[in-house]
Amino acid sequence: MDGSGLPVTRSTCPYCGVGCGVLMRPDGHGGIEVRGDPDHPANFGRLCSKGSALGETVGREGRLLAPRVDGRDTDWDTALQLVADRFRDTVQRHGPDSVAFYVSGQLLTEDYYVANKLMKGFIGSANIDTNSRLCMASSVAGHKRAFGTDTVPGTYEDLEQADLIVLTGSNLAWCHPVLYQRILQARKERGTKLIVIDPRRTASCDRADMHLALKPGTDVALFNRLLAEIEKSGATDKEFTSKVIGLSDALEEAHQDDVNVTGLSEVEVTEFCRMWIGTEKVVTIYSQGVNQSSSGADKVNAILNCHLATGRIGTPGCGPFSVTGQPNAMGGREVGGLANMLACHLDLENADHRAAVRDFWSAPKVPDAPGLKAVDMFRAVGEGQIKALWIIHTNPAVSMPDADAVRAAIAGCDFTVVSDITGATDTARLADVLLPAAAWAEKDGTVTNSDRTISRQRTVLTAPGMARPDWDILAEVGRRMGWNDAFSYENPAEIFREYAALSGIAGRFGRDFDISGLSGLPDTGYRDLQPTRWPVTAARKGGRFFGDGQFFHPDGKARILPVRYRPPAAKRTPRYPFRLNTGRVRDQWHTMTRTGLSPRLSAHLAEPFLEIHPEDARDLSVKAADLISLESPQGRAILRARITDAVQRGQVFAPMHWTGETAPSARIDAVVAPVTDPVSGQPESKASVVAVKRFAAA
Ligand code: SF4
Repeated sequence: MDGSGLPVTRSTCPYCGVGCGVLMRPDGHGGIEVRGDPDHPANFGRLCSKGSALGETVGREGRLLAPRVDGRDTDWDTALQLVADRFRDTVQRHGPDSVAFYVSGQLLTEDYYVANKLMKGFIGSANIDTNSRLCMASSVAGHKRAFGTDTVPGTYEDLEQADLIVLTGSNLAWCHPVLYQRILQARKERGTKLIVIDPRRTASCDRADMHLALKPGTDVALFNRLLAEIEKSGATDKEFTSKVIGLSDALEEAHQDDVNVTGLSEVEVTEFCRMWIGTEKVVTIYSQGVNQSSSGADKVNAILNCHLATGRIGTPGCGPFSVTGQPNAMGGREVGGLANMLACHLDLENADHRAAVRDFWSAPKVPDAPGLKAVDMFRAVGEGQIKALWIIHTNPAVSMPDADAVRAAIAGCDFTVVSDITGATDTARLADVLLPAAAWAEKDGTVTNSDRTISRQRTVLTAPGMARPDWDILAEVGRRMGWNDAFSYENPAEIFREYAALSGIAGRFGRDFDISGLSGLPDTGYRDLQPTRWPVTAARKGGRFFGDGQFFHPDGKARILPVRYRPPAAKRTPRYPFRLNTGRVRDQWHTMTRTGLSPRLSAHLAEPFLEIHPEDARDLSVKAADLISLESPQGRAILRARITDAVQRGQVFAPMHWTGETAPSARIDAVVAPVTDPVSGQPESKASVVAVKRFAAA
């Protein structure tokens, strides 16, 4: 209850990976009032513009209220039997790898767990991938290469205990605003220094001590120079690096790299190295600007290398910190929602891990090879290898690179199921079967944020029409496919307990993710679960990893990886002379299916735009607010010009949110090349090449 005597429900914001706690109260008219939870350790009552407008984005408007088959409303029985029959028939006729699930970091952990169990344990394919592949797969790959597991070493408190924070490839001020507020507070109280590394001048630079506007994709060369300077200045931690393998090989590579490719001056590079090396407590935060690259995993390892070489990891105020884009990207990683992972940070390639998971699930077979990662999955759909596809809470027809080809692939797929809260997305319009899912305030389960804190999402509104929770829809399809016992869940608490018990196996294999201490939670304990940062084992409870020099490779040692700068995959040519950077704006989320409902949020930036440097605009005779045509080998978009020296010459920036429904000509991912990192499979969404022309006057 709050002061007004009305019931208050604690939940978690469904937007970014900060995972802010919210207090929700029904307003008596079918909506809710939302404010920050003062007791949640992610935000202590703060909310950003998106979180504070949550109450404006709930309700029945635009909701899908009944299952639909071939465009006609139907009942659940008909729709789910059709889904189960078509998936079973396809597997029987063409094998388990002829079907696929493409899911989302919007799913709650319990939903994700059931989807992963159904595909990897019972259908028998690893063809389940997630839109988180588009935002942090390179961090996962970098972590696994360096640490042996996908472990985020630090905690949010480190941001308040650091003396220097480096933001690289992260516009934290707009994309993780509450974390940025925490940093500004620390800056005020203890004078924390802030360095931003980004080709573009963003809002995060406004309060920075230094902005390094490097050339796109050159981060490895910069961090290799830092590694070389660490050694030269004697800042290597000899005791810590005795628990690390590969330093000399990494240094050899680092010495071969030429920092001049960054376009930064020697003065800038020297000052950056001086500040980083000279500050004991340093946190390096990185995000999409690092991950969304054809060398994303190498960029991540170049950053981790510097922290490992100095032992600045896993102790208060020190460490590399990958921040996740989506509310439950971390939960998806933990349940094994990526095509190359098994549940609970166990390895798909490890026969003992596979056997243990198969036995735990009493599953017929767990696949022994990774499935198709997002870009390859939609390519396989287009080539007819995937014949039945289930897309859950995501809109790949506009959000995947080479979006027009993805749209055509989905349209041509033999059988496509889409679960979503609305039937109005570009992807939903292509579905054979549309399943109405419960939305954020109607769902019950858990999410994990960027610092490993598991928080509850709780139901405050009744789902409209026939909408149902995702775990319930998935479990019923599992039962109708013949696996009654494995999918006989009554509620999300039961799923959570099973998942937590499975993680005990991971613990026995010496993996990081062990929340088995929560496997005995009764329903009431699950209902009242407070934000809990894993690990939950007594030895490490809620703390940091790696400060003790213990890592998760079989020999217990970390790996410093030799990495070398590689330019972005797409080369600029006279025909395509500009490099396109894409990203988020402050007040919109993904393809705007929720934030687009709030007039207040839409008032910040009302329409899509293209940022272009004043000298490039002059050369192209482009004036402010003119329409610009943007063309790549993949497609075309038309956007309004924003002339600004925030972008460098030869580079342009466009936001990713506007989609087919809101601005058909502005679908920027139709222009983005489907190039991926060979290690992580993450697309290079920030370095496509494009031609830019004036299209029409303002
Ligand atoms: Fe929500 Fe992220 Fe804003 Fe917090 S910072 S209120 S989690 S969008």
